[in-house]
Amino acid sequence: MKQQQTECKRCGICCQKGGPALHGQDLALVRSGHLPIEDLITIRHGELAHNPLTGRIEAVAAELVKIRGSGQEWCCCYYEPTSKGCSIYGNRPLSCGVLKCWQPEETLALVGRDLLSRLDILEEDDPLRIHVLEHERLCPCPDMGEVEKILTGPAASALRSLEVLVNSDLALRDRLVRECNLSLARELFLFGRPIFQLLQPFGVLVSESPQGLRLTMRREYSNGEAYGG
Ligand code: SF4
Ligand code: SF4
Repeated sequence: MKQQQTECKRCGICCQKGGPALHGQDLALVRSGHLPIEDLITIRHGELAHNPLTGRIEAVAAELVKIRGSGQEWCCCYYEPTSKGCSIYGNRPLSCGVLKCWQPEETLALVGRDLLSRLDILEEDDPLRIHVLEHERLCPCPDMGEVEKILTGPAASALRSLEVLVNSDLALRDRLVRECNLSLARELFLFGRPIFQLLQPFGVLVSESPQGLRLTMRREYSNGEAYGG
C-alpha cells in the first residue's frame, strides 16, 4: 500500500510552479526590504491564472501581486535549484509558510483572501500611485477568458479593437517608463505584463508596422477565416 505523505519531501515542485501571491501579512516583508518590488509582478484583474479552488485557468476577479518568476519561467525567483531550497526561507511569504501539498486546506483557505494590491504596497505619498491609476483607467486588462472565446470565432474585428488597446498600453508604458525612469522589473510591478504578451498564448502573432504593433492570428487558430487582413 502506498504510504501517505506526512511531511515535506523538499522536492521543490511547489516553488517551480510559481511564486506565491502576497497577502496582508506580507506587507511587512515588502516594507522591510525583504521583498523588493523589483521581485514582484502584478497580475491584473482580468488576466488568466490558475485558480486552485476550481483547478481551472480563469480570469482573476481581483488583482494580485506575486513573486516574479526566474528568467522566462514562472519558477519562483527565490528558488535555488541546486539545493532545492528557498533563498528567503526565514522571510518567505505567508502562503509559502502554510503550504503542505499533502494537506492543502490551509493553502486553499487563503486563496483570494486579503490579497495585497499595488496600491496597498505603494506608500500613500508615492508619486507612482497616480500612474498606476492612470494606466488602469486608460488601459484596463480585458477579461482574457472572454477574449480567448472571441478569438476562437471569426476574430478580425476583435483583433482590430485589441490592436488599439495593445498600442495604447505600449504607448502609455513607454511614456511612463521614460518620465519615471523605470526598470523593466518596476514596470511589471506597476503595470503588469503588456497586453500584447497576454494575447500571444491564444495564437495571436504580434509584428511591428509603421502604425504600431499589428495583430494577426496564427493559421492553426484562425478557424478558416482570414484574420488580420
Ligand atoms: S510542499 Fe510538497 S511540493 Fe512543495 S517541496 Fe514539499 S513535498 Fe514538494
Ligand atoms: S518564496 Fe521560497 S518557498 Fe516561496 S515559492 Fe519562492 S522559493 Fe518557494
